Amino acid sequence: MDDLCWVPGRSWVSSAGMPGGSSVHFYGVRGSTPCDGPGIARYGGNTSCAVLETNGHPPIVFDLGTGLRNYGAQLGAAGRDREFRGAVLLTHLHWDHIQGLPFFHPLAHERSRIEVFGPAQGDAPLAEVFEGVMRPPYFPIRPRDLPADVRFRGVGDDVFCIGDARVRSCWVRHTDPCLGFRVDVNGVSVAYISDHGQGCGRDDEPLDHIPTDVLELCDGVDLLIHDAQHTAEEFAVKAHYGHCTVGYAVHVAREAGVRQVALFHHDPAHHDDEVDRLLLSARDASARTGGPEVIAAHEGMDVVLRKRTHAARSVQ
Ligand SMILES: [Zn+2]
Ligand SMILES: [Zn+2]
Repeated sequence: MDDLCWVPGRSWVSSAGMPGGSSVHFYGVRGSTPCDGPGIARYGGNTSCAVLETNGHPPIVFDLGTGLRNYGAQLGAAGRDREFRGAVLLTHLHWDHIQGLPFFHPLAHERSRIEVFGPAQGDAPLAEVFEGVMRPPYFPIRPRDLPADVRFRGVGDDVFCIGDARVRSCWVRHTDPCLGFRVDVNGVSVAYISDHGQGCGRDDEPLDHIPTDVLELCDGVDLLIHDAQHTAEEFAVKAHYGHCTVGYAVHVAREAGVRQVALFHHDPAHHDDEVDRLLLSARDASARTGGPEVIAAHEGMDVVLRKRTHAARSVQ
């Protein structure tokens, strides 16, 4: 895919506060639907959105969930919204992954530009399919009505570049076509698999089966952000939702040799205390089986990525 290389140019806004380093900031960590209430205030109710910032590189945004709105507000407060340049890695077109786009304030400025790499939709261009849900009467404007330049590119099992970042995408199991991503940039690596259907209807495979391409995608990354929607009891009756258990997220992380895994896409029915409990149990399971450090993503969390002192495994 030689043409799949986006060179953001010289005018993108550099990552403030990231001298020589890289980090992932979480703006939305909830799965399925935005939600609210005192019981979820600590982890937050906005849907999927995280941003990889690394010094000297345009931001790379994972998904366009409702958390994207707060990212835009933060950019505005820092005076970084008027000529925003950034790329988006969009896993799929379910509502909880796209609804933040029209509320991303930098797109109100004509000199802003985002490049959205998302799931190829067969013969139809991704932009056309996206517009199918963002148009009257479902929403008053289309993506092309936004003042900023918003471009879509369909990808599947691909390797491409965003500036100096090397990106790998692969199809992962979910209820509709869905991608996972890996980004290698500036000596660090992140994999993002927000929605991942464990088993996903295949009766001939054990439930702990991990597809080879998923293992390759996650191989040795510094941070894996992974679906952790269900308890084992919930999964027993909700396997057809296309998500996985917290235990499966830790299993993938351990088998892929990742450094740290962030539990993500929390079930909207899981209150803060329940997520705390799931985190403790996941940490215990990981420690007992030689797995990686486990964290639970929450809104406002910053994960600082450190370059390894030895050569990290990188995407091939
Ligand atoms: Zn989702
Ligand atoms: Zn989904």
